[in-house]
Amino acid sequence: MRTTARIATAGLTVWIGVSVTVSPAQDRSQWLAHDMQRPRPPVVKPGRLSLPVEPPADAVVLFDGTDMSQWRNLEGAPAGWRVNDGAMEAVPDSGYVRTAAVFGDVQLHLEWAAPTPASGSGQKRGNSGVFLMGLYEVQVLDSYDNDTYADGQAAAIYGQYPPLVNACLPPGEWQSYDIIFRRPRFAGDGSVTRPAQMTVIHNGILVQDKSELLGPTAWLNYKPYAQHDDRLPIALQDHGNPVRYRNIWLRELDETPPPRGLAEQTVAPANVSREQLARLAGSYTGPFGDFGSIGLADDRLQLHLKTGQVIDLVPVSDHEFVMRCTAGRLVFDVREGPASGFTVELGGDRQTITRQTPAE
Ligand code: MG
Repeated sequence: MRTTARIATAGLTVWIGVSVTVSPAQDRSQWLAHDMQRPRPPVVKPGRLSLPVEPPADAVVLFDGTDMSQWRNLEGAPAGWRVNDGAMEAVPDSGYVRTAAVFGDVQLHLEWAAPTPASGSGQKRGNSGVFLMGLYEVQVLDSYDNDTYADGQAAAIYGQYPPLVNACLPPGEWQSYDIIFRRPRFAGDGSVTRPAQMTVIHNGILVQDKSELLGPTAWLNYKPYAQHDDRLPIALQDHGNPVRYRNIWLRELDETPPPRGLAEQTVAPANVSREQLARLAGSYTGPFGDFGSIGLADDRLQLHLKTGQVIDLVPVSDHEFVMRCTAGRLVFDVREGPASGFTVELGGDRQTITRQTPAE
């Protein structure tokens, strides 16, 4: 907000306008958690998907429809849910179930179906949830024709972010979640260096777009991050409704951040005289006709392709050059006088290029 501040300098008092942050909440959502006034996301009927989605070859399959051997209750004892007709079903009041194995960054696929016939309303209809690391919930709820607060409907990051749209299918129908989860990163002192992040696709529709979590899922309050292990079990919520799950698999993601930006050649450029470089300049022809030309700019050699691209060449010797940003190499054929041609090695290909016009 704009306000005024008084600055005293050399006996002179000046009032100036400055921008100040009056509240740390200024860049936050204007909505309180669970606010019924918050607009509901638009309803979008998803296109027909082919479910179940076959797990890819590198997937860890957590439930293939046969048994719950990879699941436990929160105390580590056998899970209290039941397997029925290829699905695992929440048994009301049996408690959450969690994976026996632990995971960090994952791409998680699962399919779920709300109980039918639908009963109850709001948060009491088909409620469950997918808790990444047992802490960060993507809401599972029968949000088909069932109103509740926006940050508590299906595919919400519960209590934080409503889904971008309501892509729910009717109860009883199988629907899919694809969740890309990046766990929070903590510094040695326990402070958060990068919050947890989730992208969620519900029935083929983007509903969370790299949403940055404010902390672990909480009810009626925001809970700050607390440092935890890099790998923890994934849990499914028992909220008293017999929600069913099937075809649960994940791919563990490489946690190394990808490098940013493009590489450049690190080779130390050879010293090549302008006279020598001039012997290489000229127009050239390749196997498919006009190739382009080699030109000199500020004592640097450049490849001018006929497509209009100009590529800087870095000298490795007086007749061998590499492309500045590309794994490409040119070796000129120089005996006496102007080069008669060169070979280009690029992307596993090798081409012979010949001089088109005599050098001046
Ligand atoms: Mg829930």
